[in-house]
Amino acid sequence: MARVNNWQLGREMSYWYPEARPQKQFAAVFDTNKCIACQTCTLACKTTWTSGKGQEYMLWNNVETKPYGFYPLAWDLKLLEMLDGQSWDTSGEKPVYDGSTIFESAPAGERVMGWRPEDEDYAYPNVGEDDCAGGIEGGASLFETHDMAWFYYLARICNHCTYPGCLASCPRGSIYKRPEDGIVLVDQNRCRGYQECVRGCPYKKVFFNTMTGTSEKCIACYPKMEMGIQPQCFVNCIGKIRMAGYINTPDKANPENPIDYLVHIKKVALPLFPQFGLEPNVYYIPPIHVPTSFTKQMFGPAVDAAIKTYREAAANKDDDLTGLLGLFGSSEMVMERWKRVGDKVIGLDANGKELVDVPMKEPVHIRPAVDKLYQITRTNCP
Ligand code: SF4
Ligand code: SF4
Repeated sequence: MARVNNWQLGREMSYWYPEARPQKQFAAVFDTNKCIACQTCTLACKTTWTSGKGQEYMLWNNVETKPYGFYPLAWDLKLLEMLDGQSWDTSGEKPVYDGSTIFESAPAGERVMGWRPEDEDYAYPNVGEDDCAGGIEGGASLFETHDMAWFYYLARICNHCTYPGCLASCPRGSIYKRPEDGIVLVDQNRCRGYQECVRGCPYKKVFFNTMTGTSEKCIACYPKMEMGIQPQCFVNCIGKIRMAGYINTPDKANPENPIDYLVHIKKVALPLFPQFGLEPNVYYIPPIHVPTSFTKQMFGPAVDAAIKTYREAAANKDDDLTGLLGLFGSSEMVMERWKRVGDKVIGLDANGKELVDVPMKEPVHIRPAVDKLYQITRTNCP
């Protein structure tokens, strides 16, 4: 095993291959506070990529209700039970992961500690939907405070990890990470259907197709990304929770890059189960209403600080952060750069060409109740 640097862990770790970062790394930020579980993203992906035979139970994008929703069943719980420790040393300037990753916990002779779901585990994609933790009395409804009863929606795609478990576990070398953008793909011609990748991906985002005998996975809509257009699940998102782009390592963080700004500068967006050790590249703004004992295990020790910054952005008049959050879902193009000019937030492409501008306050037009020109009377809704 090689020694590689995993900045999300704050330390080096063991990985099957040496560190080889791509020229650019595909990344995304999802704001969990805005997701309404409409599943439009799921259907947008399903109808684009996985409508063929053998793909019936493939959801490259899925949205599950936490804490009781999973797809496939118990995908996270099973691995969390297998993984020892999982503690963080938070005494220094940056948190350092004290426990073992799935690579460091691999049994002798294996590359990754993992497990493979049964067919039945894929049979109930909506299990636990809208189930509350803590529960509510029969007949009661949620009103005023609901500290005791909570749930939230977790939208998931492949994380196009820096250190993919799927890639490390493939004995055929059929999975590769594109050097130009870090997107992780399965070579359909090389794959022989051993399903080691299904076992090795802790997020269970590789699926085996019994009709073709090969494994398939999210391709980050790379034909669109190559044209500077965000993936299907992003541009169709009703809640406007998603932004796709590219991320740098923290030492090269560029505040003009929206993903860098949210992840490295403001630190409001956090990786999913960083303790697994894959350096996943989908980052989540954690839900602000959920006990952090739960979300810390899911997003790491920086949850409290992320929620504080996010919650207080408006009160602290942090116009840059609130403005940038308003750019989510404003254009189908990939906004590799952004800037705020007064009350306007502007998304730009990599060459600095303006793609979209969004006013931070929606202009309000109050029309005269009687329009003399058209001889009509109107009703203004306040
Ligand atoms: Fe591979 Fe899973 Fe990471 Fe995607 S999320 S790159 S399938 S290990
Ligand atoms: Fe959530 Fe957007 Fe998907 Fe709807 S389309 S479920 S809001 S991520």
